Amino acid sequence: MYLEPEVVPLQSLGVVDVGGTDLDERDALSSALANVSEADQRKSFAVKRGNEFVNEYARTSLEGERTDGGPSNPNHLLGAFPTLYCYGKGGIEVNRPIAVSYGDHVRRDLQYWDKRFRKDLHYVFQVFGVLQKRQVCNSAGIQIKKSDFQKNERVIQSLKPSDLTQAAEEEKRRIPFSNPAVRCLRKHIKSTRAKVMGTDESRANLRSKVWSLTAHIGPPSLWITVNPSDTGDPIAQVLAGADIDLDRFMSGRGPDATARSNAIAGDPFAAAKYFHFIIDCVLEILFGVKASKRGSHVRRKTGIFGDMAAYIGAVEAQGRGTLHFHVIAWLKGSPTSSRMKELLQKEAFRKKVAEFIAANIRSDIAGANGHQIKAMKKEKAVSYSRPVDPRQQNYLACARYTEEILARATQVHTCTTEACLKLVKNRLICKRHAPFALSEEDWIAPDGSWGSRRRYGYINAWSPPIMQAVRCNQDIKLISNRAETKDVTWYFSGYVSKNQREISNSSALLAKRLAFHDKQERYSEDTKFRNKRLLQRCANTLSREQVFSAPEVVSYLMGFGDRKLSHYFVPLYMAEIYATLRNTYPILRYQK
Ligand SMILES: [Zn+2]
Repeated sequence: MYLEPEVVPLQSLGVVDVGGTDLDERDALSSALANVSEADQRKSFAVKRGNEFVNEYARTSLEGERTDGGPSNPNHLLGAFPTLYCYGKGGIEVNRPIAVSYGDHVRRDLQYWDKRFRKDLHYVFQVFGVLQKRQVCNSAGIQIKKSDFQKNERVIQSLKPSDLTQAAEEEKRRIPFSNPAVRCLRKHIKSTRAKVMGTDESRANLRSKVWSLTAHIGPPSLWITVNPSDTGDPIAQVLAGADIDLDRFMSGRGPDATARSNAIAGDPFAAAKYFHFIIDCVLEILFGVKASKRGSHVRRKTGIFGDMAAYIGAVEAQGRGTLHFHVIAWLKGSPTSSRMKELLQKEAFRKKVAEFIAANIRSDIAGANGHQIKAMKKEKAVSYSRPVDPRQQNYLACARYTEEILARATQVHTCTTEACLKLVKNRLICKRHAPFALSEEDWIAPDGSWGSRRRYGYINAWSPPIMQAVRCNQDIKLISNRAETKDVTWYFSGYVSKNQREISNSSALLAKRLAFHDKQERYSEDTKFRNKRLLQRCANTLSREQVFSAPEVVSYLMGFGDRKLSHYFVPLYMAEIYATLRNTYPILRYQK
């Protein structure tokens, strides 16, 4: 082991994210050091803090060849993770006969046989931070080359920290920014971050995809949420290394509930892999839509909802880090909004829709009311099971019985202050709108409002085949009018980002960052470079406020991503198109 005490980077001692190439992290370093109490200093660590920044880029020799950096300047991962890269060898971006990219090497590490990389959360978050910052750097480089940015360059340069402090006040009061220069900077930060994995801005562009598909093939028909149980499903346990015979599965055998939870909590790779495997199965086998990797073609067969034209799904993490899935689905042949309005006036059509609801959306457990449902036994660990085999003789009766047990265990909503209750005008209201409307039958009204048979107001609706196959909590809604499409689209892509927004006032963070940027760049003459750094620094400042769970981070690192799309979308950069048109036809500049 070549590491000497003085050169071990800060990351190894838990002070994460002090990227050395990005000198703007100096403030993070100084506050980290300020937090080191004298008592800490007196402690005799075998490995002591260094006082230099750790460069996250590859080390190169004078001849331009990659090296591991040696003891005085070790490659950031070799230096920080001596237990993962034993003897300080085998790290990322060191000299190799064939160059391997940072991302590819991380993917290899996460799949390494002894699981040491994927089980080290410091490693997982560290490499994610590096890759995210590199994407920000590339994206800022592209952004400053855009004519739109060049036009606004002077305005952005004129910005002072006080302008952003004022913007912070406006943000606090939830009113639009009054300063055009602030609006301009925010627009370019947004565009920079939109190309970076895991940012709110990248998530928000799902919204335009929903509208694009709606314009292309008509309004969507269904909104579904699936919440697979990674701690319950035996498939997840097998992926985490448990010895379970899935062909001759017995729920009494294998790890108990505590061991199952520990296995998944300790192995975010298994949790992410399981989630994406199950959701891909739902999309391909149950929905009947298989999209090729690049979206160049879509293969379809009739699925549980009939023929599906398209879907757009978003992966999200909930409070405890487990992943869940929201999907908007377009059914083939569904009418346009205006045609739908006309058709809903006809009884025959409404009857047809009610039949569709009866077949696909269930919120009734064997006709039981609230008292009867509460009296039913709530089985534990229902997801630690196998779906009923459709080849068995009394399949239908068995499946129906199993569905009731599963629904009782997973679909009964309980309002709690932690999960769903919020105070509105001094009254606690469930933000999921429970209790839901009761009904003796499945119905749709001429105005598009609809409901499924429900005799207890706290039952979430489910799709019977998805319940059979995935055996987990879920929700399903019919989208029957334009207003619902709008609501669902907004909720869909804004859901994750709102948590981040509530944590901090982004303008206040940017004000601090701008003050520091001005100080750092006071001798810099190169305007382009200054502006690129500004965008990069602002974008990184906002990234630091985001909260991720480990399975989410593994999803990004492995390329599983945070969305599932049946179609491939080509972005149109309108600003560039308008600029080219104006340059080609100068007369357009004078026309409004
Ligand atoms: Zn509730």
